[in-house]
Amino acid sequence: MAIRKIVKYGEASLRQPSKEVHKVSQKIKNLVQDLMDTMYAQNGVGLAAPQIGENVRVFVIDVSTGDEPLNPKVFINPKIIKKTGACISAEGCLSFPEAYTNVRRYSNVTIKALDINGRSFVMEATDGTLLARAIQHEFDHLDGILFIDHSINRFEAEEALKKHNLPPIQVEKLLDEPELAEAVDKLIEENLKKENK
Ligand code: ZN
Repeated sequence: MAIRKIVKYGEASLRQPSKEVHKVSQKIKNLVQDLMDTMYAQNGVGLAAPQIGENVRVFVIDVSTGDEPLNPKVFINPKIIKKTGACISAEGCLSFPEAYTNVRRYSNVTIKALDINGRSFVMEATDGTLLARAIQHEFDHLDGILFIDHSINRFEAEEALKKHNLPPIQVEKLLDEPELAEAVDKLIEENLKKENK
C-alpha cells in the first residue's frame, strides 16, 4: 500500500483520543497495511494509527529482530484487561525522532483485541519483554498518551527532547502513577546498591 508521513510530537492530533473501529472493513485493512509499510520502512517496533494521522483504535507491533522472520501483530479496538508488576523501559517513538528516555511500565499485560479478520483474541506478554512494553506504548497512543508522560526523570526527558529539537514536556500531561512509581523507585535503589558493591 503506502508509506505514510509520521505525525511528530507537537502536532495536536497526536494528543487526541482515537475512535473505536465499528467494522474491520477494507478501509481498515488498508490502514493496517499502511501502518505495517510505514513501521517497516522506519525500522520501528510498533506504530499506532494516530501516528499516521488516523485517529482510530488500531496499532501494529513487530518485535522480531535480526534474521528472525517478520512477525507482525495487529490490534484493533484493544483493551488491556490485566496489568501487574513494574519495570523500567528505555523508550523512543517514531513520532520523537532519535529521542529516548526511561519510563515506567508494567512488567506483565494481558490484552484483548480484534485481529485483521475481525476475530477476537487475547494475548499475554510477561517479564517486561519488548512485546509487553510495546503493547503499553502503542495502546497509549490511542488515548493521546505519549511515552514521555511516563518519564521516570522529567529532567532527563527534557534534555533528550531539547537535544533533538522537539517541543518541551507538557507538565500537565505527566502521569501520576503511585503504584508503578514506588516499585520503580525500589528497582532503581536495588540497581544502585548492586553498582556500589
Ligand atoms: Zn510511539
